[in-house]
Amino acid sequence: TGANRGLGPETCRQLAERGYAVILTSRDEADGRAAAGKLGDAVEARRLDVTNGENIAALAAGLGAEGRTIDVLVNNAAVSLDGFNVEVARWTLAVNFLGAMNLTDGLIDRIPDGGTIVFVSSGMGELSAYSPSIRARFADADLTRDKLVALANEFVADVDAGRHSQNGWPSSAYRVSKAAVNGLTRILARELKPRGIRVNSVCPGWVRTRMGGSSASRSVETGAASIVWAATLDDATTGGFYRDGRAIGW
Ligand code: NDP
Repeated sequence: TGANRGLGPETCRQLAERGYAVILTSRDEADGRAAAGKLGDAVEARRLDVTNGENIAALAAGLGAEGRTIDVLVNNAAVSLDGFNVEVARWTLAVNFLGAMNLTDGLIDRIPDGGTIVFVSSGMGELSAYSPSIRARFADADLTRDKLVALANEFVADVDAGRHSQNGWPSSAYRVSKAAVNGLTRILARELKPRGIRVNSVCPGWVRTRMGGSSASRSVETGAASIVWAATLDDATTGGFYRDGRAIGW
């Protein structure tokens, strides 16, 4: 997802190089076609805005009608918006967390047993930025989707009411969205274990993209390799958070 620029197209390129038939999705159809056009016949473009339920349903229905399955789903699309207010908080969570969750739910029937789901997260999601009480709620081994969505909604409401700092939240919607993605990784890993579906979060490191900026330390090739490592696991590794194939703390 979000594969028209940045880490997305390079992730598609590396997966195609390994022999995968890749579906590159983008919210702008022309951008997606242009990106896929540079990557050869193994990569096709489809339209997908992860915040659009109709787009998600149409993608799932199209793949179903074609009898296609998705061995590997890479949830990569995200925003890191300037400024910090309730709109920024709401939009960031809508794309980075709820978008990834709704897309994964929408495509789950197309993912075969033994498949793989990767959430492109960030070290910025680390729980060390939170008060002990909020950290404990994210880290709860019995965290459910309902509790996670409630936590995200609580953050937005606290930002709206001007009490987020007082209630132990960082002043960064991006950080909260990635902590929520990491929570979702743990929940889905638990839920999907009986089907042998691996679910892991990955941090690509600080990468030179529009989001990472030109001063970032890593190339897209190196960042995407971190994602592709988790996308092409051939063992039962699930429910973890990795950078460059090494476990990192939540
Ligand atoms: P970019 O900003 O370069 O690219 C983001 C991509 O997400 C674009 O293709 C953008 O599409 C797409 N996107 C945004 N909103 C939506 C939406 N609603 N639906 C579908 N696609 C959408 O970011 P990166 O390539 O750097 O980031 C990729 C991933 O890596 C993200 O999850 C990011 O959080 C993560 N990451 C990046 C780091 C870095 O240093 N770069 C560090 C840590 C994590 P459009 O062109 O239409 O806007």
